[in-house]
Amino acid sequence: MKLGIPREHREGERRVAATPESVKQLAGLGLEVLIEAGAGEAAGHADDEYRQAGAAVVPLLVAKELDVLAHVRPLDPHSALSLKPGAVTVGLASPASELDTVQALADGRITSFAMELVPRISRAQSMDALSSQALVAGYRCVLEAAIRLPHFFPLYMTAAGTVPPARVLVLGAGVAGLQAIGTAKRLGARVFANDIRPASADEVASMGGTFIRLDLETAEAAGGYARQLSSDAGTRQRQLLAPHVAQSDVLITTAAVPGRPAPLLVTREMVQGMRPGSVVVDLAAESGGNVEGVVAGADIAVPTADGAGHVSLVGLKDPASAMAADASRLYAKNVANLLALMVRDGTVAPDFGDEVLAGACLTHDGGVRHQPTAELLA
Ligand code: NAD
Repeated sequence: MKLGIPREHREGERRVAATPESVKQLAGLGLEVLIEAGAGEAAGHADDEYRQAGAAVVPLLVAKELDVLAHVRPLDPHSALSLKPGAVTVGLASPASELDTVQALADGRITSFAMELVPRISRAQSMDALSSQALVAGYRCVLEAAIRLPHFFPLYMTAAGTVPPARVLVLGAGVAGLQAIGTAKRLGARVFANDIRPASADEVASMGGTFIRLDLETAEAAGGYARQLSSDAGTRQRQLLAPHVAQSDVLITTAAVPGRPAPLLVTREMVQGMRPGSVVVDLAAESGGNVEGVVAGADIAVPTADGAGHVSLVGLKDPASAMAADASRLYAKNVANLLALMVRDGTVAPDFGDEVLAGACLTHDGGVRHQPTAELLA
């Protein structure tokens, strides 16, 4: 069966759904891999590397000839409709926001698998693209902060005097937050963190951070995810966090609640209460932001309350794409592992009795299989 890997078309997207390494795995499954010329270029892979790994490099993918399409960013409705009925797609689908594409996939009788919907169970860890891309984003956001901060992260004791370490606060200690803590720690900062899930205190400590306990309800929903705080608890959380934010040189926010806009954790007033030169990086900027006034893809200079300078408020956009080589390496492996679950002797035949495939399936046989998305479309 023919598996196509397209050149990604969304503006700013540098990742690719297959690397030469994953092509070997896919070819080993008996799939004939066709890759669009230049698809891996921005992630550091020349066409020749793909050829050597066993793929055929084609100037353009002909959608109707493909049995499987593996992609990074969600397809657009037109691309979804140009596939042949019964074809399989695997990739990020943003089902809650790309409803037109979901409808097109269903109308075109495409069997689509959304990488975001892969169940977060132990057996599916090697297919968990949310985690692999959050790891990249968590690392990257600290580097973005470090480069903007006019101070060192580590403690320096030099003949010219002692420079104290930077103080970093991470709000939201999921996969990205924990990576941010580890990265800031490796750079030598003093790192503090807060989350509303009870398990997060130990996880923060295991990465070398100091957990900030707030006198707040914990908020955990099914599957170990956070649930949204009540409006009163949210206000209280912001009040309790304010002095910690004011003391920090760097604030990294990564808080998210599945199916909801990002919770507002930091008001403009709290940002203005930081010292001049401080840096705030909001990883949740693309889903509404944890910080008031943040804009995805923009650096905003927020004047400090004392009028002495400004705080850099950074709304990160596509942080994983900015590290396209390793983000693609991990993503491509996630995709290949998911495909390996459904390919037998070169034939793609998903068994929906498998909880991973059943959970990840978005559309099949003309219908939307993912219930929350089906409800949004109803
Ligand atoms: P996420 O991106 O959904 O959210 C990021 C973090 O924000 C979470 O830790 C969440 O608790 C936190 N948060 C939400 N509201 C907050 C608030 N008001 N204040 C502070 N923090 C707030 O999370 P994620 O990184 O996808 O991880 C979610 C859960 O899934 C975690 O428990 C993680 O350990 C778990 N997980 C399990 C697996 C697995 O394979 N078993 C894999 C990955 C993640």
